[in-house]
Amino acid sequence: MRALGYAAVDAVVEHMATIRDQDAYGVPDVAALEAALGGPPPLAGTDPQELVATFMETVIRAGIRSDHPGMLAYIPNHPTFPGAVADLLIAGTNVFAGSWQGGPGAAVVELAVIGWIRDLLGLAPTTTGVIQSGGSMANLVGLAVARERHLADAPDRVAYMSDQAHSSVGRALRLLGVEHLREVASDERFRLSPEALAVAVADDRAAGRTPWCVAVAAGATNTGSVDDLRGLAALASAEGMWLHVDGAYGGFLALTERGRAQMPGLELADSFVLDAHKSLYVPIAAGIVLIRDGEQLERAFSVRPEYLRDAYALGGVSFSDRGPELTRPFRALKVWMTIKSFGFPRLVAALDRSLDLAEQAAREIDADPGLEVVTGPWLGMVTFRSTRGVPAVDLVRAVERSGRGMISTTALRGETVARICVLGHRTRVEDIHAVLAAARTV
Ligand SMILES: *Cc1c(COP(=O)(O)O)cnc(C)c1O
Repeated sequence: MRALGYAAVDAVVEHMATIRDQDAYGVPDVAALEAALGGPPPLAGTDPQELVATFMETVIRAGIRSDHPGMLAYIPNHPTFPGAVADLLIAGTNVFAGSWQGGPGAAVVELAVIGWIRDLLGLAPTTTGVIQSGGSMANLVGLAVARERHLADAPDRVAYMSDQAHSSVGRALRLLGVEHLREVASDERFRLSPEALAVAVADDRAAGRTPWCVAVAAGATNTGSVDDLRGLAALASAEGMWLHVDGAYGGFLALTERGRAQMPGLELADSFVLDAHKSLYVPIAAGIVLIRDGEQLERAFSVRPEYLRDAYALGGVSFSDRGPELTRPFRALKVWMTIKSFGFPRLVAALDRSLDLAEQAAREIDADPGLEVVTGPWLGMVTFRSTRGVPAVDLVRAVERSGRGMISTTALRGETVARICVLGHRTRVEDIHAVLAAARTV
């Protein structure tokens, strides 16, 4: 067991230590992957140390290195070693984090993490939450609380979201069976405005429907734009609507002064989502949902199966009361280990550095006559285009070929643009230079 564990730890350390020298993207050889990893059902065992080697040499060679310093595509994700070790501890000790009886220590860790985040963001003391597998599941849980608890008996309930809302928000609302879903056009800075929402709400009221929920973004995935949270909160409150804020990208950036200044009104959210595996440097996957009127969370999810009644009779917080999972992994540990290992100021300083680097990227783009900024820098994101008609996808491929990093594309009002998102703690100014230099070669 020790030899295998040491081999695995050595492999992970080697990976992290050499990540800068690896290509940010490995083109998969599908036939080779299938030959090495598939084959007939194994009848004999294999030395697991050999499997560790296969994992390092084959399984992870292909695809995106989201932990690469030059990774500026999609949303980068640079976990830390203590966070990774937490996953080993969780798996090796098999803690049941669904009930107080199963893991009182796990429950206290999860409550501590939720409490720290609530307090640092200045959220209401009534706020409680739960850690889910990611932003998509956290959005589903937050909106499910609204679905169960808010205007539960009203006819023809309508949910609103912006055309910039993350795809998981619309999917969650559909899965929840929300009667009517409206996509409202964002403004010229890709924000959902209270004025545009008010028009849609008035139309629905006139038709006898019940405006019920609005899902807004604190850091939209396309551009980093932040909806007018304060104005939308005022409208939601006047209209009796639930306010769901998707901060899966931007939520933890509110721990920085600059980020927080862009999100006034955050504390007014009825439900608020953050992704620790994005902007808190935790290994995939851990998303958090916070509910301002905390009691609503357990009212929406608590069930008491007969065979677990004596377990629940012990009291304490059972996190299976706060989401759809009964058996659930102790995800809070990797969030807790990350925060405790580094302390909030160092994590926040790393977030601040990524905001600086996105500003640097925007300046470099502006300084090049062949490129121009389309949006940003907003919360670490910049979108840009060629001034000479080079398609954005060619810029992306040029960066990919260089091995030095990755960027991606998105579509804004029908135009495909190149997109940079700086979020990794390993990213340095030379990575920004290298990525933009590679894009310039075309
Ligand atoms: C990433 C993201 C999500 C989805 O989160 P996952 O962790 O990928 O499930 C939702 N909303 C926003 C704004 C995001 O950036």
